[in-house]
Amino acid sequence: MRRTRQRIALLALPALVGSMLVATGPAGADPTGPSVTVGQSHVDDPDAVRLVHIRLTGADMLDRVTAAGFDLEHGLRRVPTGIEGAAVVTAEQLTALKGMGVEVLADGAGFAWADEADGGLGPAGARAVQPQSHEATVRVVRADWFTTKGQGFLYVEARTTEGQQAEPIVGMQLENDSGKGTPFGFPRTMSRFVDSGQYMFHRNLFKLDTRPDTIRVTSSTGGVATGSVSNWLEDAPPPLTANPSYKSDFLDGYRHPQQLYSRAKEIARQYPDIAEIVYLPNQTNGYQRKAQAQIGGTGQAAVVVTSAAWGHEGGNDITVDFVDRPGANLPLAVEVEGKAVRVLLAKDAAGGPASTATEVAEALRTRSQGLIDRAHPYRANEGTGIVAPTAGPVALTDFLDQKRVGAPAGEVPRGPVTIPVLRIGKHRDGKKPGVLIQAQDHAREWVPATTSLESAERLVHNYRSDRETKKIVDNTDVFFILSNNPDGANYSFYNFASQRRNMTNHCPDANADPGRRNSWGVDLNRNYRVGSGHDGYAGASTSCVSDTYQGPEKLSEPESKNIIWLVEKYSNIKFMMSVHSNGGQLFWQPGAYIADGRITTPRPPLGDEAFYWQSAARILSQVKAHRETVVTPENVGGSSDVLYSSAGNVREDLYHTYGIYAFGWEVGGSVYNPATGDWQGGSFQPEWVGNPDLVSGHAETMEYANGIMEMFRVAADWGRDKKDPTSQLVPGAGRYSKPVDVRFETSEPATVYYTTDGSRPTLESPRYAATEFREPGQVFHVTETTTFRWFSVDSAGNIERNYDPTKSDRRNNYRTATIKIVNR
Ligand SMILES: [Zn+2]
Repeated sequence: MRRTRQRIALLALPALVGSMLVATGPAGADPTGPSVTVGQSHVDDPDAVRLVHIRLTGADMLDRVTAAGFDLEHGLRRVPTGIEGAAVVTAEQLTALKGMGVEVLADGAGFAWADEADGGLGPAGARAVQPQSHEATVRVVRADWFTTKGQGFLYVEARTTEGQQAEPIVGMQLENDSGKGTPFGFPRTMSRFVDSGQYMFHRNLFKLDTRPDTIRVTSSTGGVATGSVSNWLEDAPPPLTANPSYKSDFLDGYRHPQQLYSRAKEIARQYPDIAEIVYLPNQTNGYQRKAQAQIGGTGQAAVVVTSAAWGHEGGNDITVDFVDRPGANLPLAVEVEGKAVRVLLAKDAAGGPASTATEVAEALRTRSQGLIDRAHPYRANEGTGIVAPTAGPVALTDFLDQKRVGAPAGEVPRGPVTIPVLRIGKHRDGKKPGVLIQAQDHAREWVPATTSLESAERLVHNYRSDRETKKIVDNTDVFFILSNNPDGANYSFYNFASQRRNMTNHCPDANADPGRRNSWGVDLNRNYRVGSGHDGYAGASTSCVSDTYQGPEKLSEPESKNIIWLVEKYSNIKFMMSVHSNGGQLFWQPGAYIADGRITTPRPPLGDEAFYWQSAARILSQVKAHRETVVTPENVGGSSDVLYSSAGNVREDLYHTYGIYAFGWEVGGSVYNPATGDWQGGSFQPEWVGNPDLVSGHAETMEYANGIMEMFRVAADWGRDKKDPTSQLVPGAGRYSKPVDVRFETSEPATVYYTTDGSRPTLESPRYAATEFREPGQVFHVTETTTFRWFSVDSAGNIERNYDPTKSDRRNNYRTATIKIVNR
């Protein structure tokens, strides 16, 4: 067995929390030669950032803060009082955040659900309890029981149809029994969840030692509903790792992109019968930058100078000198000798310095013989200040030689990168369902890359020895992009640990000075076409220095173009996992909305929604099997339903444009700590070994690789699913003496198309829908005789009874049922 043995010497990033992260040395501190001074380059140190815990009042504030350029992306959680999370900010940004109304939380001061019942709504709520008429106002959305590390939990969502009402706000009370046939008790007030001005549902999560059988929810206006408690991740089959001969645990540390790609190519060489490399056509823009300096003073007198060549292609050899000459009435002049640019500053009639920053910038742009590409005043300044001479030549630099503390040894290859895709499958002929695993769109997320590589290693190492693995490889066509942001990832490993985006600088002059260099780049997971910020969806920024910058246009970046190329070329790709960290969440559509009116991208039909839930439960059960980590149901579903809107994310595009089941995963984070009784969050770069029971890069890699392996099994099962779904109307056809409530049931996740007007059902007919999002199918209240005609389609496209809805099928082989209402 050959394994990549290089270990990256990583300085432990101690949980990031509250620690100062100084990613590179102070800018401009490194003289590059005896005759060259860089000390006059006035560049802010953009690297001193820290991670703080914050609370926002809700999605509106999140949008405003994100649009203003703040990095609030991961580890966010919905709490009853708003949204809590972490921000990576400079001291200056922290002040600005507070100015926008963001609350900064002391460590451990975040929201925690009360484990003790609080008595609920009290006598008024209890008094209002009465039998419901048909027009029920309260529905139980879900009630889930799960255990982790010896502790039971109950999670409940319930909805009142009066939830949007503002005055008075309708309260909800939750009670649970202690097992079948036991009385309800332990009343507690439910927490109202409002997003972007829209009532979502009420919910609670709390510890319980005994599994309840039934819950009861009561509203302050008298609505009441009961619901049975379901198991969440409790009934998982044994994981693949239960087989003693199954090989796992192939990584001994984090991997930078060069290591990831070289191992991918090595796997393809070692296992040519089941693996190959597919090269993505669009090269990245590269781990490279133009060389820069800020010269001539500060404020209005500052000139920002940028080389035409990349730093490593000569830009770093350029020096710029602002020279004071004796005399009066001298014009501004530029001399170039080799890579040395001398600006001879103008003198006025009295012999005083007379060149403004604007004039010097223009002279550099036009008279530097092509060495200087860009020269301009600093930020929004007009450049009216008189430029001061320098003490000597100032060296331009791309700052990429400044390594962060703990950076891996060695140099990073400069220039554009061709991303290899590791394709694994016995039959790579386009006939098996394709699964795209795309890791590390966001550079600082190191665990997604190791999780994906570990999954690839498990496939190739177990193919010959493990029956279940062989079934996966024989029946799927897997595409691994181990890092989809190699430039940014290298920057994160070698220079600035908190880098999220790629390294493409789209900024205009006002934000193009080197003090902004850690704020450039496009958020690759905001650069897609469906639900885009360019079309008004929330959760992406138009600011080139925002950490959620969506790019100058849709698909502006090679990394996102590549994904579209791949799924168009390999149209057998039917499943996708965009792997991120950290947060302990599993998402699908809808993932974006227009804030005004909270209009989401189209919701998946009920059959797809059910298939997503079924797949999620399988995947997360296998995660749990490793060390009892539970991704809680409050963190599973349409991402904009449970967390926030992220405009232009890849999942929306692949699902809506190509019909790919597209998941988003936040691995890591949110592990229950029985010693403290709290849930503990993770970080982007946890110590590799860390605390194996809590926050650990290694443990997260192992447990989430379990989940990715299960996703392959989901795809394999999907590909072999040739069985038609069956469905029924409940209750069925018959004579009823009064109005009756009916609904559809299906034998597996399937979408029902139906008519009640006598026409034959087609794919254009109404789709049986959820009562509301995250709820089961709607209930029809039938008051007069009605004939339902329908058919169902499962997630693999099989149609009930082989009915052909596209053309007039003489057999009319759809289902029918007549509900006959006989008035007495
Ligand atoms: Zn991410």
